[in-house]
Amino acid sequence: MKIPSRRHARATNRARSSPRPMAAPAAADTDGPREAGPREAGPRAGDDDADFDVVILGAGPAGAAAAITLRRFTGLRVAIVERRLFDPFRPGETVSPALFPLIDYLGIARAGFEERHLQSYAHAAAWGGEQLVVRDFLFNGQGSGLHLDRMAFDSMLLEQAGKLGAVILQPAEPLAVTPGARWTISVRHGERRRALSAAYVIDCSGRNSVMVRQQQCPVLQTDRMVGVYAYYEAGDDQERVQRTLVETTADGWFYLAPLPGRRTAVAFMTDADTLRTLDLLDPEQWRRHALATQHIGALVRELPAPQAFRQYPIHSRVARLPANAAWTAAGDAAASFDPVSSLGIGHALSSGMHAGRVAHAHVEQGGGLGEGYRQSLLDHFQAYVATRRSLYANEQRWPGSGFWQRRLMDGRERSAA
Ligand SMILES: Cc1cc2nc3c(=O)[nH]c(=O)nc-3n(C[C@H](O)[C@H](O)[C@H](O)COP(=O)(O)OP(=O)(O)OC[C@H]3O[C@@H](n4cnc5c(N)ncnc54)[C@H](O)[C@@H]3O)c2cc1C
Repeated sequence: MKIPSRRHARATNRARSSPRPMAAPAAADTDGPREAGPREAGPRAGDDDADFDVVILGAGPAGAAAAITLRRFTGLRVAIVERRLFDPFRPGETVSPALFPLIDYLGIARAGFEERHLQSYAHAAAWGGEQLVVRDFLFNGQGSGLHLDRMAFDSMLLEQAGKLGAVILQPAEPLAVTPGARWTISVRHGERRRALSAAYVIDCSGRNSVMVRQQQCPVLQTDRMVGVYAYYEAGDDQERVQRTLVETTADGWFYLAPLPGRRTAVAFMTDADTLRTLDLLDPEQWRRHALATQHIGALVRELPAPQAFRQYPIHSRVARLPANAAWTAAGDAAASFDPVSSLGIGHALSSGMHAGRVAHAHVEQGGGLGEGYRQSLLDHFQAYVATRRSLYANEQRWPGSGFWQRRLMDGRERSAA
């Protein structure tokens, strides 16, 4: 897809007073994963060039995809502000082969990309019965999926954005995002405080959804699910699990996935109140709960003590984004999903690309794509809720369980952020 670049100079945006050349095509990405560290990548942003067409808050997959789309297909000036260095302990996402066309669109070489992650050949699930049902990627005609090394994945996307000319400030904490004829984004970057100016802002800050909250954008949230993860490092002599495994209990479901580098993630997904009642933030209680299961328990028994233990919010929600404002949101900031759907990374990339196009239309033509984007997010979320309900309805063994009953309801708990 090529975004037409029609320019209408406007006095409020001096960055657009002279046409800029289209960005060069993406170069193949052959470097290995980088150590995370403070950086200012892309063209150097001195005090004189703190003016941007688009500032993106958050450098996860959504933020990087938005930046790459803008730099690859338009001449707009883009900065990404990321408040953290990347954490080596991330959820351990599994993605289907449907992700690959998105990676191609972003101009990232497929071969180098796949090498950095672990092939995912099969899923096994005891969901609706004790027996494991195995789905093998071998027979789906699309090839295998991947267990992502998130640090490598995020670094690779960000590197591509930097190569294409996006200015990357990391770690840089946004202190205030102030509306006006243009946005002013005050950031603390290392020892310095800087004021960036932008015609348009894209919120890609994940579930933190900084702009969605600040702008009091209405949000539909359907549940209060949380996931508690234990990360293990297997010894060289230990056999590795080669597929993802899901197993339900009366109070939620366990998930086990191999990660690149001999690591394994095991998680329990439940509701926030059940987590507290069962005291599952206590690693010992969590382990007891895991050992009580048939399939997951057999594997956890063989694993060494976990290296890290993390809690994540995993509730589902969608923001009713404005159609014609000078900001939008993408990725988890716009809509987030139950991990059982494996939708998150693909949605982050595709909505990041879409938000990039919305931003481009706003900067160049004063709008035009915001309403379509907003509606597509709402439609996508509605379809997801229906699919999720039918998936959870397949588990009928605990009709009295609050967790399973709630999954069958639409569960509209609140409608404002
Ligand atoms: C437990 C769990 C399991 C999951 N499993 C899967 C799976 O198997 N498959 C799948 O496809 N998806 C899965 N997901 C979903 C997936 O992780 C997310 O959908 C995806 O990471 C969203 O990308 P994002 O770029 O929108 O947000 P994020 O990846 O969260 O990135 C947001 C970035 O914004 C930064 N940030 C936050 N606030 C600010 C601020 N104020 N200013 C600047 N920067 C800020 C953060 O530091 C972060 O780097 C899972 C999620 C969880 C929690």
